[in-house]
Amino acid sequence: MKLNSLTKEEEKVIVDKGQEIPFTGEYDTHYEDGTYVCKRCETPLYTSDSKFDAHCGWPSFDQEIKGAIKHVPDKDGQRTEIICNNCSAHLGHVFIGENFTPTDTRHCVNSISLKFIPKKDQL
Ligand SMILES: [Zn+2]
Repeated sequence: MKLNSLTKEEEKVIVDKGQEIPFTGEYDTHYEDGTYVCKRCETPLYTSDSKFDAHCGWPSFDQEIKGAIKHVPDKDGQRTEIICNNCSAHLGHVFIGENFTPTDTRHCVNSISLKFIPKKDQL
């Protein structure tokens, strides 16, 4: 598996499961058409049609690309952590039952764990 090398900042979130400061991430209020891929292995994780504004300070998605993401119980015993199914990069957490969108699911993802590929650059 080819993995991109990470900066210290990226490592803090992706490897050490940290969290970026809310309302500071590159993609928090980013609504172009395209695909969000894993920063480390570039597996497509979310499409822009599933992105919505939950006003929580992090990019929010109501649906993942099928099979791209693994849900695991967080060490805190409360939340569900989401990781890249391919390289296990930490992405954020998933919350169910908040009634934001019809899927009733919010993937709360750190911008720094993602890379955006605009639709116009895709084949
Ligand atoms: Zn990955």
